[in-house]
Amino acid sequence: MTTVAFIGLGNMGGPMAANLAKAGFTVRAFDLSAQALETAKSQGCEIAATATEAATDADFVISMLPAGKHVRGLYVNGDAPLFEVIKPSALVIDCSTIDADTARHVAAAGAEKGIGFVDAPVSGGVGGAQAGTLTFIVGGSEAQFAQAQPVLQAMGKNIFHAGDHGAGQVAKVCNNMLLSILMAGTCEAINMGVKNGLDPAVLSEIMKQSSGGNWALNVYNPYPGVMENAPASKGYQGGFQVDLMIKDLGLAMDVSQQSASPVPMGSAARSLFTLHKAGGNGKLDFSSLLKLYQDKGE
Ligand code: NAD
Repeated sequence: MTTVAFIGLGNMGGPMAANLAKAGFTVRAFDLSAQALETAKSQGCEIAATATEAATDADFVISMLPAGKHVRGLYVNGDAPLFEVIKPSALVIDCSTIDADTARHVAAAGAEKGIGFVDAPVSGGVGGAQAGTLTFIVGGSEAQFAQAQPVLQAMGKNIFHAGDHGAGQVAKVCNNMLLSILMAGTCEAINMGVKNGLDPAVLSEIMKQSSGGNWALNVYNPYPGVMENAPASKGYQGGFQVDLMIKDLGLAMDVSQQSASPVPMGSAARSLFTLHKAGGNGKLDFSSLLKLYQDKGE
């Protein structure tokens, strides 16, 4: 039986671990939150008292943590670094969205001990994590990409090999930067149309079928009532939080800075989302950016 240690059972990691257990893997789960552990237990995971206990002798170690410092601390420089206990034939799969430098650093630290590592950030949100339809964007060697397949397939639908270590993180932030720009542009265009008397649903349909068509118009319309199941029609609850988009745009700005890549549109989108957060909207879905454009009245 293949044993998977799963560290970080939050909004994303919890359902991902549950899908692995459902697929027949022995999942040894650990989180700092007792409640997250209880939920994982009820979904078929074994509970570990520490990350070390979960990772010792495991065939795969998966992490789904908030940021780079948590990942570095877990494997390399924390109180009980997991690279001291993970067996050399095991593969570490870090699914957190973190900076590419940390991914490369942790991969190199693992390699020194003969332990494989891939960065495998995801796209698809909590809904994709629950449904097992996540997109994984993997950075690592060909052999490590192949080794990760059975585990990733139990949690996702599309699995891409972006390149060497860190490439998964770079591809992920390129995508999310583009998404933020598309959403901002879509909000801007719909708001202008509505201010000029157009019906938002009619305008959206026209643009969807025309050269302005894009993912936001197709499946995630930001105007309330246009798309029944979009967060916009549910008070901007659920979906992908403004706070998380700002986190990803911060990572995109780091990549831009380090590589001297011009990102004027990404910078503008980051400013717009940060301004929107300053208005108290950090916990809302990111399509709520529309509110920033709307008249608040005289
Ligand atoms: P979350 O805050 O819900 O979960 C993080 C979990 O990690 C928490 O349960 C926390 O207790 C645990 N944790 C933190 N440090 C730990 C440690 N040292 N040991 C064990 N557990 C620890 O966050 P989330 O929404 O699940 O996001 C996780 C990652 O996935 C982030 O990097 C995020 O950017 C990325 N992501 C999130 C989404 C989304 O829609 N939520 C989508 C794509 C990617």
